[in-house]
Amino acid sequence: MRADIVVLPGDGIGPEVTAAAVEVLRAVAARYGHHFELREHAIGGAAIDASGEPLPAATLQACQRADAVLLGAVGGPKWSDPQAKVRPEQGLLALRKGLGLYANLRPVQPHAATLGASPIKPHLLAGVDLMVVRELTGGIYFGRKQRSPDAASDLCEYSVAEIERVVRRACELARGRRKHVVSVDKANVLETSRLWREVAAKVAREEFPDVTLEHQLVDSMAMHLIAKPRAFDVIVTENMFGDILTDEASMLAGSLGLLPSASLGEGKVGLYEPIHGSAPDIAGRGIANPCGTILSAALLLRHSLGLEAEAECVERAVAAVLEAGTLTADLAPAGRAATTAEVTAAVLAQLE
Ligand code: ATP
Ligand code: MG
Repeated sequence: MRADIVVLPGDGIGPEVTAAAVEVLRAVAARYGHHFELREHAIGGAAIDASGEPLPAATLQACQRADAVLLGAVGGPKWSDPQAKVRPEQGLLALRKGLGLYANLRPVQPHAATLGASPIKPHLLAGVDLMVVRELTGGIYFGRKQRSPDAASDLCEYSVAEIERVVRRACELARGRRKHVVSVDKANVLETSRLWREVAAKVAREEFPDVTLEHQLVDSMAMHLIAKPRAFDVIVTENMFGDILTDEASMLAGSLGLLPSASLGEGKVGLYEPIHGSAPDIAGRGIANPCGTILSAALLLRHSLGLEAEAECVERAVAAVLEAGTLTADLAPAGRAATTAEVTAAVLAQLE
């Protein structure tokens, strides 16, 4: 197949980890006879330096026309002055909005070889395979904000349509997995959560009779995610709860550097990026873990291009490299760390 993929390296370690994932995508294209057009565009701090804007119009247009977008990371100390009018993170928010991306998918599958790196006991982690689906465009982060000298408020709003589409997406994902969805809310206190629960139940009952839906309050979910992570398959929740629970879930995997994400909307164009940030403390040293970005490229192959066999091939290659103990400094025992280039070369060798 032919596919147009826009690559947004961004800031910090972004260019290092996207370069690794681009090599992997080229190897997949060569092995399976696909033609991937991979074009780089500017975003974030790099774009501010070049053009004064965190999301130049040319970048947004290229992304809107593409089949998929692969992003590194944006931001860094150089652009973090609170007085600054433009900030790198605005570029990412504008891109998500411009592409209509409402569902953020974060799979967490700790690998046997890296269980020891997690703060959670290894026997609780073996066999964990979960997918958190976070609503990305609504809720308290986007509601009206008000401030007076002695008070402040943030409005939390959700429409039925916004809840339906993200729950539907979660149930579709569950169909390809263990057919189990836990919807997370705070329905004992919040009106938006009561609506969320009603709509989720209706979507599951009417459209997905083969999928089991359970409801869980967010406070007890925070506990269960650590105490019995194996109990979960797909977890779907609103924006702020998802923000918090996805960071918590990332601790199951041992390192931020291992985890991929996908942001999807109505159309086929999705945005794929590692969950970590620009990691300015290690940028430019060639030691960043490229696995989260390489696994994001696997999600791109699966969700935007429909190339399931290719996606699984990349995921198996990364698992084999971790198994063999080729690990970057975030995971390796002191003095035994591999570089970004060595891990990437090992993944490419597995793909042959
Ligand atoms: P942001 O605000 O951009 O989300 P953050 O504050 O969450 O950033 P990160 O940039 O993700 O922070 O980095 C957090 C820590 O994890 C840093 O010490 C960083 O070096 C480390 N880290 C992040 N990504 C990687 C990676 N791919 N490989 C190795 N270490 C990483
Ligand atoms: Mg962060």
